Amino acid sequence: MAPALCWLRRNLRLDDNAPLAAAVRDAGAVIPVFVLDDHYLDHDFSPPRLRFLADSLRELADALGRRGSRLVVRAGPAGEALAALAAETGADRVYAHQDHEPHARALHARAAEVLERRGARLVLVPDLLLVDPATLTAASGRPFAVYTPFARRWREADKPGPLPEPVALDTPPAVLASSFPSVPLGRPRGLRERGAPENPPGGSLEARRLWDLFRAGPLQGYARRRDLPGEAGTSRLSPHLRFGTIGVRRLLHEAREAWRAADAAGRASIDAFVGELAWREFYAALLGREPRLAAEPFRREFEAFPWVGGEEGERRLAAWREGRTGYPVVDAGMRQLAREGWMHNRVRMVTASFLAKHLRVDWRRGEALFRARLADGDLASNTGGWQWAAGCGTDAQPFFRIFNPVLQGERFDPDGAYVRRYVPELARWRGAGRDLHAPWRSLSPPADYPAPIVDHAAARREALEAFDRLRGGRAGAR
Ligand SMILES: Cc1cc2nc3c(=O)[nH]c(=O)nc-3n(C[C@H](O)[C@H](O)[C@H](O)COP(=O)(O)OP(=O)(O)OC[C@H]3O[C@@H](n4cnc5c(N)ncnc54)[C@H](O)[C@@H]3O)c2cc1C
Repeated sequence: MAPALCWLRRNLRLDDNAPLAAAVRDAGAVIPVFVLDDHYLDHDFSPPRLRFLADSLRELADALGRRGSRLVVRAGPAGEALAALAAETGADRVYAHQDHEPHARALHARAAEVLERRGARLVLVPDLLLVDPATLTAASGRPFAVYTPFARRWREADKPGPLPEPVALDTPPAVLASSFPSVPLGRPRGLRERGAPENPPGGSLEARRLWDLFRAGPLQGYARRRDLPGEAGTSRLSPHLRFGTIGVRRLLHEAREAWRAADAAGRASIDAFVGELAWREFYAALLGREPRLAAEPFRREFEAFPWVGGEEGERRLAAWREGRTGYPVVDAGMRQLAREGWMHNRVRMVTASFLAKHLRVDWRRGEALFRARLADGDLASNTGGWQWAAGCGTDAQPFFRIFNPVLQGERFDPDGAYVRRYVPELARWRGAGRDLHAPWRSLSPPADYPAPIVDHAAARREALEAFDRLRGGRAGAR
């Protein structure tokens, strides 16, 4: 029987890996391959993600080596690289995961075409999501455009259990020979020396460590603590779900086990956590169905929104990007992002809303910056989250509901632990007290921290006026 290639992309693990399990089941001999596409180094360039990817590939290569197999690494374009590898090894099938991202679909279409010309076949297997979005439709037969009914159907849908790691991996001896061509992991352009020390480390061992830590405590209190950025109340698994260093079927299975053993409060928390996995699938389904949402607002009228551009727009964007807006929770969030390549969800909502509504800078500028800086940067969740925050998405936070960054800070970071951790000017401010989230109100504000870039009340009014004009005066009536 001819061997099969297993093309690993966003499933960098051995456990609960559907394409790998299918290849082992159908072909016997399997050649795991990763193709480093220029896409990662150009269009989708992100130092924290490259670091995460490098860590994960190194660990995966070691794990495969320990099982008598090998991770073959080739340079893209993927279709040509896979076809060449298939020709070298006599493989007649390439197993990979289905993907909703526009770039991945184009990659798959191209790979299928090149492979077919060489007599091989691309076999796509569901793996990234728990429920195939095509099976989730409203009573009308149309796909859902709103989260709540989507999530109701998603929760009811059958979901597959996790797949065990293959007991043995049979890889052709010729591929194991050191002379068989594979790009050394230290060498691919861009994979070396990327990222910063505080970026999330990659790999399945790290994913398992984080998940065990989270399950042992924070999961039970998730409903209460998930909104508090100063606490370790969330799983931090997002980059691992982005790169598939842990399987989402495995997570759900173990979350359900924890649910069975939990009390009522614990169960509510676990339900809330599973609801977040549903958000991830909602945005994936949405982008899969409407690829235009990667760059266009769901609510088309927002194409005409009067964003602040030119020099003033750039000035505002720079202050936001560098965490110098004078609003502590916004600045702490942007500095956390720059330092760690990750930001707490509550603060993502506040910082994104602040850029789009207070500063009226086009949400796409912020989306691009987030995606470049986030280790979990994911086109579907990021454009979905940004459109939600900017008020132009499907399930949007209505535009006229504008987060007050001071009240958000006081409510979700009441002791200021979060802003102090990321804004040293505020950590060393002696006069800090009740005004920590609004330092300009203090009689002795910190000398080295900026004054607010805009006045909240004035910015809110201007944003509502702009929105009003967009809606032909209707917004004010709501
Ligand atoms: C403006 C904005 C941009 C965002 N960009 C991204 C992004 O690029 N990549 C990304 O993975 N998430 C994004 N999110 C969603 C969310 O902020 C992160 O998934 C979450 O903060 C990750 O932390 P965690 O793993 O500790 O999450 P947990 O609270 O532990 O949640 C578990 C998992 O559920 C998923 N999840 C949680 N919340 C959401 C959500 N609102 N939307 C979609 N999935 C969710 C994530 O995969 C997460 O790892 C964005 C949210 C906003 C408001």
